[in-house]
Amino acid sequence: MLTKLKQNVSRLLGNGKKKTQRLERREIPRDEHNVSRSMISEPAKKVLHRLNKAGYEAYLVGGGVRDILLDGKPKDFDIATNATPEEVHNLFRNSRLIGRRFRIVHVLFGREVIEVTTFRGNALDNDDSSDTQRKTSEHGLLLRDNVYGNQEEDALRRDFTINALYYCIRDFTVIDFAGGIDDLKQRQLRLIGDPETRYREDPVRMLRAIRFAAKLDFEIEPATEAPITQLAELLDHIPSARLFDEVLKLFSAGHGEATYDLLTRYGLLAPLFPQTAKATQEGQPDELIRQALRNTDARIRQGKSVTPYFLFAAMLWPALQAEWQRRQDQGEPLQPAFHQAAAKVIGRQVQATSIPKRFSGPMKEIWELQLRLPRRQGKRALATMEHPRFRAAYDFLLVREASGDTEPGLGQWWTDFQAADTRGRERLLSELASTGPKPRRRRRSSHRNRAS
Ligand code: ATP
Ligand code: MG
Repeated sequence: MLTKLKQNVSRLLGNGKKKTQRLERREIPRDEHNVSRSMISEPAKKVLHRLNKAGYEAYLVGGGVRDILLDGKPKDFDIATNATPEEVHNLFRNSRLIGRRFRIVHVLFGREVIEVTTFRGNALDNDDSSDTQRKTSEHGLLLRDNVYGNQEEDALRRDFTINALYYCIRDFTVIDFAGGIDDLKQRQLRLIGDPETRYREDPVRMLRAIRFAAKLDFEIEPATEAPITQLAELLDHIPSARLFDEVLKLFSAGHGEATYDLLTRYGLLAPLFPQTAKATQEGQPDELIRQALRNTDARIRQGKSVTPYFLFAAMLWPALQAEWQRRQDQGEPLQPAFHQAAAKVIGRQVQATSIPKRFSGPMKEIWELQLRLPRRQGKRALATMEHPRFRAAYDFLLVREASGDTEPGLGQWWTDFQAADTRGRERLLSELASTGPKPRRRRRSSHRNRAS
């Protein structure tokens, strides 16, 4: 067992090439860290206690420990245990077994989900070809990873050192196997083991590096940073549904603009949004994307909700503009060109990241409403306001105006119109009739490539 463990450690270290990482178990007693039980949710504590009482080891791990150590509030709580998924499932009536690639258990408490994973080991250098528990593809991609192990092995298969810290609720210690505490102090992200190997096993780790760097305002340590750009295209082989989930995580942590900059810097925008990367490289401005991300970040800080379809509508807007223009240049009339362009852009995007229909529909509506918002005469304004996506489309218009995508003015009109009473609305509409837009035919022909 011990030699096996040593082999694994040596494999993770690239066979002794890089000995900079500390890999001895270090226990930090309660009076030397700030993780207190009051920071941990009741459901998470319940799961820890029940597992312990049943005779299993159980620790809080991952973001739950990391964020508390950084004086932050964890988004969710993950637990690692030596109980098998079935044993965990049997212990909690309110649980379900999920996942194929990684079998885990979700214990449900109302809206809170506690994720419980069984300690994983590393059977890669077990050259028994009948091994079906842990499998990698010819490119080094980890296909399946259900070999159970002990806590130390579990620590070493995690991604970043700061994500491999364990909190023990029995004696209140924090346990560090990979130098995570030192890296937290130095505010840096460091992959455990040989970075290239670890990215090849799971290319999504590159996106996780960016996500944590932006969210925590950490540096990516040089050896962890170095291979990213070159390996970025490995993400092309990741299922589009998993990339969609990652995109949502990337942009809903409240640091969207920083995340966007980092993705661009490391060549990771292209695998996620190939058309956006191409359109901006070809000179389409991305100020609208930045403005939308700034708005989203501000909303998240205020505790407001953000919708995936608004984010995608913004991310794909430059590509939509380019495609729309291309079709008009080929002589397609404005409106059909717009609809065709929207369908085309969505069709291409879902090959990179899936977009569930419940999001792609509303996204298209936000775009289409950009053509409707300028047409306000008669009963049109009131009808447009009834549209279920009006509010999102109006917000989108404000973002377009703030980013210089279209002339300001229309947004203010809609702001006033929504705030006005019946009389006020009549006045706004009559002013429109006297001063405002020219007859329909002329106004249409004045459209160029902008939906204004
Ligand atoms: P947050 O929940 O705040 O996004 P987190 O670090 O808890 O951050 P999760 O996705 O919840 O991230 O994963 C929990 C833990 O599982 C991580 O901290 C890490 O230890 C491990 N982990 C998750 N994804 C991977 C991965 N792709 N490769 C290796 N370890 C991973
Ligand atoms: Mg987590």
